[in-house]
Amino acid sequence: MARVSKLVRAELDRHDWSNLRCGCGETADHVPEIFTTIITAESAAEAINCTFASHLEIEGNLFEAAVPAVSVILAALAGDLSEYARDVLSMTLWVVTAGESHHSEMAIGRTRLGEECQLKAREGIWVILSNANDSNKETCLDILEWIDLDEVRPQYYRSKFEKRRA
Ligand SMILES: [Zn+2]
Repeated sequence: MARVSKLVRAELDRHDWSNLRCGCGETADHVPEIFTTIITAESAAEAINCTFASHLEIEGNLFEAAVPAVSVILAALAGDLSEYARDVLSMTLWVVTAGESHHSEMAIGRTRLGEECQLKAREGIWVILSNANDSNKETCLDILEWIDLDEVRPQYYRSKFEKRRA
């Protein structure tokens, strides 16, 4: 079973989750537990009913807990993970970097949560690229396209990854 690394633990501890809004209507107090379950799971069977959906986002509509979650995801992707955990975290990063503020967040002035997540994800471009494998490379390349300020780099890596497969 993969362990929660010191880096991930530090990123989880760095944020006051109980002061952040979560999509389930509670505070985001329980989001670190979701991270722990997914990061330590070897397969979906070990993380049954455990998902970030309805917490960080609902159908791509983001809640403020999604922003610090991006830093935790990047810290986790930088370390050892099961293939299952790597795929779940990559896909979660994909969803939040493609997302937009939920209307309830818009109503209280957090209108740019999608951009906030993209900005955070930009700190981890090399983590995202080094994490790309055969099963998640499309996910990683999409994220790169959305966050990279370099307009030609995403296309360069897309063609490089496609060549690798050929
Ligand atoms: Zn929640």
